[in-house]
Amino acid sequence: MSATVAPPGTALMHDAIRLRDALGLSNREARNEVELLLIRALQVTRASLIARPELAAQAATNEIYLRSLERRLAGEPIAYILSEREFYGHVFAVTPDVLIPRPETELLVDMALERIRPDAPVRVLDLGTGSGAIAIAIALERPHVMLTAVDASAACLRVARFNCARLLGNGERLKLLHSDWFDALAGTTFEMIVSNPPYVAEDDNHLKQGDIRFEPRHALLGGPKGLDALERITSVAPRHLAAGGWLLCEHGYDQAEAVRHMLSRAGLADIVSERDLAGVLRVSGGRWLTGTVGTG
Ligand code: GLN
Repeated sequence: MSATVAPPGTALMHDAIRLRDALGLSNREARNEVELLLIRALQVTRASLIARPELAAQAATNEIYLRSLERRLAGEPIAYILSEREFYGHVFAVTPDVLIPRPETELLVDMALERIRPDAPVRVLDLGTGSGAIAIAIALERPHVMLTAVDASAACLRVARFNCARLLGNGERLKLLHSDWFDALAGTTFEMIVSNPPYVAEDDNHLKQGDIRFEPRHALLGGPKGLDALERITSVAPRHLAAGGWLLCEHGYDQAEAVRHMLSRAGLADIVSERDLAGVLRVSGGRWLTGTVGTG
């Protein structure tokens, strides 16, 4: 009996099924992830993986691939294994020090951009910048904006600095500061403040599922109800907003009402909340109008 030779795609298919079953992924997600791991291990493009089926056969013996597959099977996020994640059409470096940028956060960028005219030389502050994804995405879309981004974690700032250098060049337009929210910003005002702060409640069950288990707690946990950071940001923001300036914050699926309440208590007007692609009220904001009242 002659030995049967497995067709080239078989190893990948087998690994995709293992991933699907271990992590509860769809067939498509699992297939896509094993391809990404192999592309990275072999240092080839997706096009060559498709054009040269014999490459897929190397999956069974490639040590780098096999090690990364084991990490993924153990639940580690693919973004941390590949050290990158796409956000707003750009590829950002990520490490386990930073939150993995999420598609729903693109809504925060959209809402910021809608409120910045293309030629306006305004100052924008990003609080708790993490990988720098939000600030850098805004900077890339609005060439006249000057940005400040802060984080209380030095490790996050290193990642943000790396992304800034790679995507924005010399970084003159983005100032990165080590600061616990507004602490290092005394006396500074901005035309816009954006933030995706930690807003998950401490006992939230989804902390025990999927990628989030591997993400930094400092970027996720917002106290007993998840509202501590949002409370601090909304209450202090007016002191750092120029007249007419916007504060826009991402928040949890059930926090829109609480955040809107905080915004109005802080004296902000024109309060808005918008839904992400999943239909969840995800970003709320308001405008600091004091000082413009009566001047039209
Ligand atoms: N949206 C994230 C999650 O629930 C939380 C991000 C955050 O706390 N800023 O997975």
